[in-house]
Order: sequence, then C-alpha cells, then structure tokens
Amino acid sequence: MTIQEKYSSYLKRQQALFGDELFLGSKPDRAVTVRGTPADAVGPLLDYYHQIKDCQQCELGQSRTNFVFGVGNPEADLVFVGEAPGAREDELGEPFVGRSGKLLDQILQAIDLSRKDVFILNVIKCRPPANRDPLAGEVEQCEPYLKQQLKIIGPKLIVALGRVAAKTLLRLDDSLQHMRTQQYEYAGIEARVTYHPAALLRNPGLKKPAWEDFQAIRDRYRKLAGISSVNSSVD
Ligand code: URA
Repeated sequence: MTIQEKYSSYLKRQQALFGDELFLGSKPDRAVTVRGTPADAVGPLLDYYHQIKDCQQCELGQSRTNFVFGVGNPEADLVFVGEAPGAREDELGEPFVGRSGKLLDQILQAIDLSRKDVFILNVIKCRPPANRDPLAGEVEQCEPYLKQQLKIIGPKLIVALGRVAAKTLLRLDDSLQHMRTQQYEYAGIEARVTYHPAALLRNPGLKKPAWEDFQAIRDRYRKLAGISSVNSSVD
C-alpha cells in the first residue's frame, strides 16, 4: 500500500466513525503491538464458563436463548462492560454483535485495538425481556460472575459503557456527563465511564466527546499496560 492509500484508508475509517468533521489529537495515532491470546484458548476462564453457563439463579435463565459470557483476550488489560445482552446477543451468545457492537468494533479499530485484544462482557449475562433495564435482584445474582471473571482476567482498566452499566457497577446515580470525567475503582481495578455505542447511534452529536473519551482510554490503557507506541497507524 502506498502512503497515500494508507492515509486515505485511515481517513475513511475516521469518517465512517465520526462523520465529516476531522478530529486531530494532540499526538499522532500510534499502532501498538498488544499481547494477544486466542479467544478459544481461555483456560481458567473457559473452566469458569462451564461452571456458570447453565445458571438458573434468576428468571432470565428461563427466557434466554444463550448465556452471554463474554468474548476476547482472557488475559486482557482492558475490559469493556456493557449492560446486558440484546436480541442479537441472546441469539448468538456473544456480547455487542448488533449495530452498537459494529460501532464498538470500529471504535476499537480507531484506537488500534480489536475484540481479540480486549475482553468484552456485560453486567448481566442473560437478555432481559424487551430489553428492559436489569432489575436490582438480577444484578445481585449476576454480579459475582462479573467479579470472578475480572479476577481471572486481571485487567488494569475497566470501561463501563453507558449510564446503566456505570450506575450498576459503581452504585452511583450520577449523570453520564459527570461520570465520564471521573476516575473510579471497581473490584480494586481502575474504572472509567463513557457513552454506550447505542447512544452514539441515536445521537451522532455525542461522537465527538466519545472520541475524546476513547483517546483518553487508549492512552491510559497503554500507560497502565506499559505499552509504548511504536508505529504510527498511518505509516
Ligand atoms: N448492549 C449491551 O449493553 N450489551 C450488549 O451485549 C449489547 C448491547
């Protein structure tokens, strides 16, 4: 690929994600080499999946098609936490595979990551009927699974996607606007909050602040994981 083609493909990717406005960060985007483990070689995480996949602790166990455990690198330093599976996730057994999942994949690509570098999961493992918010009792039953998953994965940074995930994890009833500017801790791990990709699809005006959040997430993740930026993503 020529340098022109590389720039053109980079700019097209940015345009697909963020529209016609061009956001230039203070530092150039850098590609990194991220330690990766195939998602199917999950060892203790796979053992844990087998322990909990038939859960019937709450009524969602009766109505689900699939238990949506999570996907990605079982040793990821960066974990994204959503709220609960939707219809498509319930059908396929994987988190974030619908429209918002496609946007999440594009955002990850824009910060030089992919599903295989990070781990993606939800607070609730089974789909609430009609995509309603999870009930307090469901969160209470399901949260120990999330905590155990985090214990096995051992990430350095957790990112809650959207207000419901943040509120549920952090036990805070605050605005997303405020939460996205703060640094938290969950289960002893540094935690941040940003917009749910579905909110960005509904309101494209949020893409600019979301892009700022994701650049900050990328920088913090690299710092915590000791990853130095080596190659520019456009060269
Ligand atoms: N929204 C979520 O919060 N989680 C998913 O897995 C899909 C959509």
